[in-house]
Parts: sequence; C-alpha cells; structure tokens
Amino acid sequence: MTASDAGWRFDNTYARLPEQLATRVEPGPVRAPRMVVFNGALAEQLGLAGSLHDAAAIFAGNALPHGAEPIAQAYAGHQFGHFTNLGDGRAILLGEQLTPTEERFDIQLKGSGRTRYSRSGDGRAALGPMLREYLISEAMHGLGIPTTRSLAVAATGDVVMREKPLPGAILTRVAKSHVRVGTFQLAAALGDRTLQETLLNYVIARHDPELADVSEPAVALLEAVAERQASLVARWMLVGFVHGVMNTDNMAISGETIDYGPCAFLDVYDPATVFSSIDQQGRYAYANQPAIAQWNLARLAESLLPLVDGDEQQAVDRVRGVLERFAERYKTHYAAGAAAKLGLAEVREGDEALFRSLLTQMHEAHADFTATFAALPRLLEEAGPTSCLPPGFTPTWREAWLRRLADEGAQQEAAKGRMRLANPLVIPRNHHVEEALAAAEIGEMQPFHRLLAAVSQPFQQSADHAAYRLGPPAGSGPYRTFCGT
Ligand code: AMP
Ligand code: MG
Repeated sequence: MTASDAGWRFDNTYARLPEQLATRVEPGPVRAPRMVVFNGALAEQLGLAGSLHDAAAIFAGNALPHGAEPIAQAYAGHQFGHFTNLGDGRAILLGEQLTPTEERFDIQLKGSGRTRYSRSGDGRAALGPMLREYLISEAMHGLGIPTTRSLAVAATGDVVMREKPLPGAILTRVAKSHVRVGTFQLAAALGDRTLQETLLNYVIARHDPELADVSEPAVALLEAVAERQASLVARWMLVGFVHGVMNTDNMAISGETIDYGPCAFLDVYDPATVFSSIDQQGRYAYANQPAIAQWNLARLAESLLPLVDGDEQQAVDRVRGVLERFAERYKTHYAAGAAAKLGLAEVREGDEALFRSLLTQMHEAHADFTATFAALPRLLEEAGPTSCLPPGFTPTWREAWLRRLADEGAQQEAAKGRMRLANPLVIPRNHHVEEALAAAEIGEMQPFHRLLAAVSQPFQQSADHAAYRLGPPAGSGPYRTFCGT
C-alpha cells in the first residue's frame, strides 16, 4: 500500500478472505454530494488530511479513495431471537486504513446503495438517522465507552422514500473491525470447517494477537469477547444507555458499541425502559441488556464448537464454563463502575446493596438517571435541611453513603474527583437530539454542532453546556425511536 496525498493508506485484509465472507461492490452514484459534517479530529487520528472536509464525492460514494477495494460483508444473525442470513445491505467497506501509529480501522460507507444482501431494501439511508448515529456514537466516545466512530455525513441530493420522502445521506463509519457474532454464525451455518478456521485465525490476528499460540484458540477468543462485552454492557448500564437492537449481527467481536439504530439514553430511571417501536416484547429493555449479551455469547459459542473439540459434548463442556462466568465478569465491571459513581476508591461488601437501594429510590421517585448521579458531589457538602435533597435521595441513604465514604477514609476532594470522572453531566438527551435533527433537516446545522460540542465533553463543567443537562419538559410522554431504515 502507498499513502495518497489525502493520507489514505489502505491495506485491505478482509477483501482477501474467502469469497463466502464478502462480495465486491461499488457504491451507487448519487445526484448531488454535499458535506454535512466532518470529524476533523478523528481524521487527524486516522492520518487523513483536513482537506478531506470538502471531499463530498468520496464521502457520498461517487469517487473512491486511493487504494479502496469496496466490499459488502456477509454475515448471519439472530434478529429478535430468529436466525437469518444477512450481510451489508446498505453499507460498503471501502477498506482498512492504517494510521500513523499503525493501528487499523475499517472505513465504511453506510447508506451507499444496494448490495447482494439488500433483500427488499433500497440500500440507502436518510439524513436524520445518519446524523443521529454520528451524534450518539461521538457522545459514547466522549463518555469513554468503546464505540465505532463517525468520520463524516454527506448528503446525497437524492430522496429516500420512507413513510414520507426524506433527504438521503451517507455516514462514514470507522471501526476496529465490522466482524460480528453473526459473522461466525454465517461461517458455522455454511458448515465449512476451513472457513471457520480461517475466520477464527483472522480475528485473532486482528483483535487478539496474543492468543495466536494458545492451546485452545477458539475458547480463548470466546473468553476475550465475553470479557469485552461484560465490560461494554456494564458501561452502557452505568450511563443509562439502551442499545435497542442487540441482535447478534449487531454485536461486534472488537467490543465496540455498533449499530446506532433505535438506541437512546434514559432520562427518568426505569429499568423496564424500551425506546424502540419495533421491540414490542421488551426483549432489549434497559435491564435485559446483560442477559441478552450472555445469550448472544452463547450463539457465538455454538458457532465455535467445531473448532473447540471434535467431540461435540466435550466442546459444549469447554464453552459452558466461559458462558457461566459471564455473569461474574459483568458483575465485577458493574461494581467497579458503580463504586466510582459513588466516589468510592474501592469495591467493598455491601456496596452493591447501597447502589441498588439508590436505584430503587430513583425508580420510585421517577428521578432522572444522569442528573441524580451528577448531583452526588453536592450531597457531600454540609447537610442542608433534609427536604432539600434532590429526588431519588433519602436522608437515610445519604447517611449510609457518607459513613461508607468515611470508612475508607475518603478525602472529600478525592471522592468528588472520582465522581466527576464517572458521572457525566451531559448525555445526548432525546429531546435535544430531536431538536438538533429537526433543524438539520431544514439546513440549520448550528443546534447540531452545539449539541455535538456538549456531548463530546460530557464531564466538563461548562456554562455553555448547562442547557443540555436538563431533562425533558414535564409532560413530554414516553420517547419512541424508529428503526431509521
Ligand atoms: P440493522 O437493523 O440496521 O442492523 O439492519 C439489519 C439488516 O438489514 C442489515 O443486514 C442491514 O444491512 C439491512 N438493512 C437495513 N436497512 C436497509 C436498507 N435500507 N436497504 C437494504 N438493507 C438494509
Ligand atoms: Mg446491523
């Protein structure tokens, strides 16, 4: 590979994998490419030139960057529990960019036209949902949560037909890779042992090179993925994030949050919260996410069985332990994060109960998840009249918490520091996101940029961002998300 003037430096390993895993396809032409957003900071990290901020033809799919070898990736997956053959129906992987520090990132266009996996879909995307993914993925990054990133949104000048005609757009997504649980499910469904082995070795080389020489690589990979997912989902839970569509094709082997469709953040704390209009059974409700992650890992384990042991029963026995340990892994990550939210330096017995009782009170008081935790540092200060405690807190709980802090000899400033690093002030609240997207749709980008700036620095105490800390106006009713396809 050679670097272009714009800094493109592709080395496309996935395109060289067996043909069952991907198909060559060019992005479909669009009428009038126009840049809508460009992520200059991310471009720099990728080794790309800032001048790309007006490379609309590239980010709308009308021109290919130097060294690109566009493909649609094939995969399968359980969607709401049902197995289906899938693949990139509206996304095209341009290639793998090598950064100046030799990291490798997929550069993918989303909304770039039909592929052989499009089924009845048009392969296109609307501006609103692509800006939504840009905003929320960058917010997740700001929160320090592993996620795919967003490099650009370009308008296509074409209309996409949904319930009504909408402006078309393409998102450029950046990921450590787009290999999913569903990719392994595809290889398993094809029953091609060599393909399964090739995929396993590829993924280990790309994501877990230290496992290259272990005696049981398939089990070791399952363990590594379980660890990443346990950590990831714990972090979602601790900021009130509801992914909304945790199908196995939307669970990345890299441990990055991927596929921002119907996702949203909690305002009021309610563990049963479901935002997605298509999730009628509440399968992907906030509180179900850890259990669903484990269910998805079981599907990954099944797909790996032939690589674990020639004897199926032996293989099942080997992976069972890994799956069973998921709950413990999750609990460990969650407990560490919960302690930090409470300003504690370490996890002790009884902390879980302390945290749970706060959540129960928050639930009963209809307290705002983010605002309640953001209020904690103030609660450390001298007790005012108890009636002044913010919703969700009780004097008894506050006393127990202060005692717990005192027990570990916590200095007030140190405890506050820990809380401020763990409790964001700003999340992309649904009503603010909707406002920004509605303005963007009529060409007014200022609200989007102001919100993006705030959610990109979620822990910063800034007067400029104060408006974004507020929950929705009273009487707003439950928020609903739609698939945005
Ligand atoms: P998602 O729910 O976004 O994970 O998408 C599930 C599957 O549907 C993936 O294979 C997508 O590529 C495909 N898909 C979603 N929207 C479209 C569309 N507009 N055209 C073609 N395929 C689509
Ligand atoms: Mg998907």
